[in-house]
Amino acid sequence: MRKFPVKHLITCSLLIAALFGCFVFFTDRPVALNVEEFSSLDSEFARPSVTMGSPNRYWDNSSVAEGLATHLDGFNPQESSKGQENIKVKVKSGDTLSAIFDRSSIDREDLAAVREASPPHWKSMSLHAGRLLEYRLDESGSLEFFEYSPEDLVAYSFTRTGDSMSFESKIRKVVSNETYRWVTIKRGDSVISAGLAAGVRQEKTLWRIPKLLQWDIDFYHDIHPGDSFQILYYENFVDGVYYEDGEIIALQFQSGNRSYSLVRYEDDGVFKGYFTREGYAARKRFLRTPVEYTRISSGFSLRRLHPISKTMKPHLGIDFAAPTGTPVYAAGDGIVEKVGYNNANGNYIYLDHGDGYRTKYLHLYKTDPSVKKGEKVKQGQRIGSVGMTGLATGPHLHYEFLVHGEHQNPATIHLPEGEPLSEDEIERFQAHADELYGRMSALKLEYPVSDPKLVNR
Ligand SMILES: [Zn+2]
Repeated sequence: MRKFPVKHLITCSLLIAALFGCFVFFTDRPVALNVEEFSSLDSEFARPSVTMGSPNRYWDNSSVAEGLATHLDGFNPQESSKGQENIKVKVKSGDTLSAIFDRSSIDREDLAAVREASPPHWKSMSLHAGRLLEYRLDESGSLEFFEYSPEDLVAYSFTRTGDSMSFESKIRKVVSNETYRWVTIKRGDSVISAGLAAGVRQEKTLWRIPKLLQWDIDFYHDIHPGDSFQILYYENFVDGVYYEDGEIIALQFQSGNRSYSLVRYEDDGVFKGYFTREGYAARKRFLRTPVEYTRISSGFSLRRLHPISKTMKPHLGIDFAAPTGTPVYAAGDGIVEKVGYNNANGNYIYLDHGDGYRTKYLHLYKTDPSVKKGEKVKQGQRIGSVGMTGLATGPHLHYEFLVHGEHQNPATIHLPEGEPLSEDEIERFQAHADELYGRMSALKLEYPVSDPKLVNR
């Protein structure tokens, strides 16, 4: 996560927030509506067939959103038996039900009937701007049907029965279909643009890939034309119409000649995380790079001419060039061993990660005030910022990685794997992973074409 510019993070977060806002909103609503808990939807998820879809179908987000709005804005599309049409009203900011009824010239008595039928905790009728109300009047002009949908998958429905209205809350059933895509990255493509061009409908699904693989792949510097990935994920449908993407089930990323595989793992319906095929957690003990850098200005070397002292000295770390002030993150959980200043290092921080692992961060512009000797730090926690204090010719982070006191090349050292699954879980997990990857291999063989931009469907 730390590898993306803040604005991308914000965009991504907003997108996710917007898509899930309705869920959050619902859980914040009064509980006495006799509406089933949303989580129950999960257990109802039907997961039938795998769809491959057209590989180059491109949906921008606005068309998805509009399609949804058009499709989901009313739960009850049936025509009135008396031929009256349902009328839709968009809730304005600050609207109340009585204001809307007044605007729509609906009788006050009908408002009273709706209120009467409302469940106790919804008597106040707080409405949310932008949502749709739908109603229908009978021939005599009195309210026959009224529905408010506080979020896409929930509707509160009122239907006239004699002199009163009867209330019903409805939840739409979401059906999740497994979907497979095989995406090749071309020159000028990012993981995101290549994925969208290959038919993945939502960016949020693609943004998960660099997040899940951030411990293995530097998505800003290590992605090259010809790299490819396969994903197996859910597309969620409501009444047969695409609604939104669901979770990534399995992922395989080919970067150069290295291949990374991850599997989503649940145990008894409880999400346990993403794991490699061997059963190690995707989240690793160390970040490969503790800063979002622009280039490596000096690599690890046992013999190098020092740019300032002009003597041959080993360079026992990597210099990551980055603008002054760029955040520097703790590479792993640990304890602050040292924080200070000297003429050579400038502002520096040494971290002790236990088991003989230590990392060092030099030439910092500033060290963060929370970073004090003996304090704990978490992986990814900001500890300071890039500068050029001490012996430095330009702003960069000098980063060292030590194992039992010996300097290792941070770029090439085989970093420890993430936490393994427990022994009683590993067998079940591997059977699950093998089954998924077997399926992906078969799907890859059948996939219409590996280069979606070459076909026009
Ligand atoms: Zn250096």
